[in-house]
Amino acid sequence: MTRIYLDYAATTPTDPEVVKAMLPYFNETFGNPSSIYSYGQETKGAIAEARSKVAGLINARDEEIVFTSGGSEADNSAIKGVAFANKSKGDHIITSSIEHHAVIEPCKFLERQGYKVTYLPVDEYGLVDPDSVRKAITDNTILISIMHGNNEIGTIEPIAEIGKIARDAGVYFHTDAVQTVGHIPTDVNELGVDLLSMSAHKLYGPKGVGALYIRKGTKLFPLIHGGDQEKGRRASTENVPGIVGLGKAVELAQQGMTEEAERLSFLRDKLITGLQERIDHSRLNGHPVNRLPNNVNVSIEYIEGESMVLNLDLEGICCSTGSACTSSSLEPSHVLLAIHLSHELAHGSLRFTLGKWNTEEDIETVLNTLPGIINRLRAMSPLAKKS
Ligand SMILES: *Cc1c(COP(=O)(O)O)cnc(C)c1O
Repeated sequence: MTRIYLDYAATTPTDPEVVKAMLPYFNETFGNPSSIYSYGQETKGAIAEARSKVAGLINARDEEIVFTSGGSEADNSAIKGVAFANKSKGDHIITSSIEHHAVIEPCKFLERQGYKVTYLPVDEYGLVDPDSVRKAITDNTILISIMHGNNEIGTIEPIAEIGKIARDAGVYFHTDAVQTVGHIPTDVNELGVDLLSMSAHKLYGPKGVGALYIRKGTKLFPLIHGGDQEKGRRASTENVPGIVGLGKAVELAQQGMTEEAERLSFLRDKLITGLQERIDHSRLNGHPVNRLPNNVNVSIEYIEGESMVLNLDLEGICCSTGSACTSSSLEPSHVLLAIHLSHELAHGSLRFTLGKWNTEEDIETVLNTLPGIINRLRAMSPLAKKS
């Protein structure tokens, strides 16, 4: 059975061209970039080249990019790094209630250390109101962290507007752009951000590598102390193959970004419309327009998301309930609860996230397969019988 992968927001396969670019750095050009002989200089050069590519994609300067072990480390470094370095200025952080766990958990950790965190609510589409950010700022606010594109419901936040508010207030502004970098334009100056997180494995690069953009002049402490790699901002011998892979992935993403976003939006809308036509008692989650080009999130009444995912898997279709990060726990997604879904609807949600290797045929297969599964599950569901 050929499988149809529709979970690109959880992770993407590494592009074969990326793998090819990485391979020599495992055992041919394997030197430690800190070594002064030629092996080392070659890998040092490769890192510099990757750094330029990453900086170019987001309109940053090369020296403003720090490579990390992924999106989670970038988020942690931004939030804890700013909090620790600016403690004398204040102890208040503003974020939203729909952030990724890699942002929420460091914020909760800081609360246990005595910091104060405001978790802003969102509207029914998952949008943060920029005015609510403005109102939440106090003299003690040192950081605002609002994600660019939501990984579960696909809503794109008004980052540029919030960026202006943060700039006017003189407060550092971080955005988790893991779902947007390489997929839609993410220009740090247009967005007005001081810190931005990205991850290679969400844009056809390898897992275990990412980057944090740190605007020149931003004060933050490193999380990992040790050698003076990354200009003292992140110790540890560089993940050279991973960094080269991230650079290649960024280069490929940049080449056809607009066309690919248009192609995916077309497939996304075909799936959304098709599901609405063929499945009654279902609703689209997330913003209808300000939406990631590849995200479809629907709630289907009277059934469990888990049952749908397992039944789709038997038919060779891979998608997820709510979010991959929460699918091992029984609690419904905090994002779906934040947009005021009932626990029942939140439990009955499915996320399809599309990517490079999806075709129109894949979408048709889903549209031809899912209604049958839903009918069978509803026939067995005590919830459906009550209705
Ligand atoms: C995947 C993801 C992360 C975590 O990135 P890792 O590289 O897996 O650590 C953070 N934020 C968002 C929005 C994500 O989708």
